[in-house]
Amino acid sequence: MKKDDCIFCKIANGEIPSRTLYEDESFRVILDLGPATRGHALILPKDHADNLYELPEEKVASAFVLAKKMAQLISKKLACDGFNLVQNNGEAAGQTVSHFHVHLIPRYKDDGQKINWVPGEPSAEELDGVLEQILR
Ligand code: 5GP
Ligand code: ZN
Repeated sequence: MKKDDCIFCKIANGEIPSRTLYEDESFRVILDLGPATRGHALILPKDHADNLYELPEEKVASAFVLAKKMAQLISKKLACDGFNLVQNNGEAAGQTVSHFHVHLIPRYKDDGQKINWVPGEPSAEELDGVLEQILR
């Protein structure tokens, strides 16, 4: 199902034109308009889901199989040196468009981009606490 006011629904379903790298009955893969690096692309499901949790499991599986295929294709064609898959859920995690998408980000030596975090230094007790909280 499409969501009326969703820009990625409109792009995924061809109502708004996009630079499309791949399309099938469930997904469209497009070039990102604000790319982190040359060749940065997005996998969009054609049916609306706000995020990973709302996307049906079979679509999640297909999206990541497609991510592998697209990463291989883009790597070969653009001769990049590495590849990041990024998938943001929620504003706190950097999601700006509330329609599930997977970022395909080719990486080049010295491309100057940072898709990174500052490693923490938790104590053994803190790590044990996290483990217990998640498993409990
Ligand atoms: P998020 O921050 O939600 O994970 O990523 C949203 C991405 O969508 C950003 O990288 C942004 O550049 C891209 N984007 C936003 N609007 C458009 C658009 O209209 N067309 C395309 N191709 N990309 C878009
Ligand atoms: Zn949508």
